[in-house]
Amino acid sequence: MSLYRSTLAGLYKLLKKKEISSQELTQVYLDRIEAHSDLNAFVTVDRTRALAQAQAADARLHAGTGTPLTGIPLAQKDIFCTEGLLTTCGSRMLANFVAPYDATVISRFNDAGSVLLGKTNMDEFAMGSSNETSFFGPVLNPWDRRCVPGGSSGGSAAAVAACLAPAATGTDTGGSIRQPAALSGITGLKPSYGRVSRFGMIAFASSLDQAGPMTRSAEDAALMLNVMAGFDPRDSTSVDRPVPDYTRTLDEPLAGLRIGLPREYFGHGLAAEVGRAIEAALEQYRRLGAKTVDVSLPNSGLAIPCYYVLAPAEASSNLARYDGVRYGYRAPEYADLWELYSKTRAQGFGAEVKRRIMIGTYALSAGYYDAYYLKAQKLRRLISADFASAFEHCDVIMGPTSPGTAFEFGSRSGDPVAMYLSDIYTISVNLAGLPGMSVPAGFDSGNRPIGLQIIGRYFDEAKLLNVAHRFQQVTDWHLRVPEGF
Ligand code: GLN
Repeated sequence: MSLYRSTLAGLYKLLKKKEISSQELTQVYLDRIEAHSDLNAFVTVDRTRALAQAQAADARLHAGTGTPLTGIPLAQKDIFCTEGLLTTCGSRMLANFVAPYDATVISRFNDAGSVLLGKTNMDEFAMGSSNETSFFGPVLNPWDRRCVPGGSSGGSAAAVAACLAPAATGTDTGGSIRQPAALSGITGLKPSYGRVSRFGMIAFASSLDQAGPMTRSAEDAALMLNVMAGFDPRDSTSVDRPVPDYTRTLDEPLAGLRIGLPREYFGHGLAAEVGRAIEAALEQYRRLGAKTVDVSLPNSGLAIPCYYVLAPAEASSNLARYDGVRYGYRAPEYADLWELYSKTRAQGFGAEVKRRIMIGTYALSAGYYDAYYLKAQKLRRLISADFASAFEHCDVIMGPTSPGTAFEFGSRSGDPVAMYLSDIYTISVNLAGLPGMSVPAGFDSGNRPIGLQIIGRYFDEAKLLNVAHRFQQVTDWHLRVPEGF
C-alpha cells in the first residue's frame, strides 16, 4: 500500500521504527497537495514552516520522546487561529488576517509534535453544506469533481479523502464534520459539546460549535481525539472531566449492544440507495451481536427551523465584531464611521453570511424575541429530551448521516432551504449537545460515498469509536480511495 494511504496508526509505527522521517513524510504530503491543487482543498500551505516543524519532530522522535502524533502531518480547518499564519475562515472579511495566537486545538497538536501542513478551505464562517460559500472558491469532491465535498469542513474532507493529509480537523455546528465526511467517504466525529476547547476557534454559533477529527478510520479518530479533548480554562463551556484513552476500548465486543433506529430518520426524503446501504450496515452490526430497537425522536422535524433561528441569532451577535476597525477587511473608502461599518460589512461578507445576520438580528429584536428566539430555545429543550427518552431503550442511535450523496455544484446554491435540508439528520445532535459520528458505509450507483451516522450519549465518545471501529474491522468502505489518488 502506498505510504500516503496509510492510517495515523500505520504512520506512527513507521516513524517510531525510523523507517521514514517526519521530514520525508511531510514532503510526500506537501507534494501531493501541490499535485492536486485543482481540488482547492487548502487556503494556505506553508512549506517552510511545515518542514521546520517536521525537523523538530524528528529530533524528538530521535530522542525517544515522541507520542503517537509526533511527526505526523495534519491539515487544520481554516477556522482555527494559527499564530503567524493566515486564518481566513473562508471569508473576504478575514482574507488578510494573520492570527496573533494559537487556538487551543492548534497548541495541543503543536505540543504533541504534529506538523501543520496547511489550512483547509471551508464555507464562509462555517455557514454552508457544500463549500460553495467560501470566498476562496468551492472545493471539488475527489470522488466526482462535478460534485461538492459537503460543508462546511469540505476542504478537510477532500484533503483526507484524496490522501493530501492523513487526517484533519473540522468543526461541526449543525453537521459540518459529519456531512462532509459522509459525502467524501471518510470518518468524522463531532464530540459532545464541551469536550474540545473552542478557544481560538472562530465562533459561528457558540452554543453549538464543536471541533473534532476527520480521518481515514475510527482508530485514527481516537488518536486525534486523545490530543484534542480536555478541559481548557480559557473556554468557559469546556467541561472539566477526565479524558479516557480513546484507543483503549476500540476492540470491545458489541454483543448485546442495543442500536436505536429512529423512525423519523428512515422516512420521506431519504434516497433509496442511502437507505439500502444503511440497512446493510445494520445487518452487519446484527452479525456482530448487536440488536436493533425502534425508537422515536418525535420533534426531529422541528430541528431545522429551530436551528435556523438559534444559529443565526448567535451568529449575528458573534459576527458583530467584524467592523473594519480592529482587524480584518476594511472598506477602502468611507465618509464617516457608519459608512466604514456598513461598507466594510457589505463588501466583506458573502450572501449566505448576510442572510444569517439578518435572520438572527430579526429573531432577536424586541417584539420578535419571544415568538422566535425563545420559542426555538424551548424546542431545543424538547429535542434534547427526545434523545434522553430514546437512550432509555438503546446504547447508540444509528441512521443515515445525510439524506443523499454528494450533489452537483450549483444544484442547491440557489435554494437555501434545499441546502439546509442536507443536515436534517445531523442538526438535532448539535442542539442536544451529543456526540455523533459518520463512518463510510457504501457507495451509490454513481460511486459516490454514503455515510452511516452513529449518535451517542453525552460524553460517550469512547463507545461511538468502539462501535465504529468494530464495523471497520469487518468492512472496507473506509479503505477505498477515489480513482486517481
Ligand atoms: N450546514 C449547516 C449550516 O450551514 C451547518 C454548518 C456547520 O455545522 N458549521 O449552518
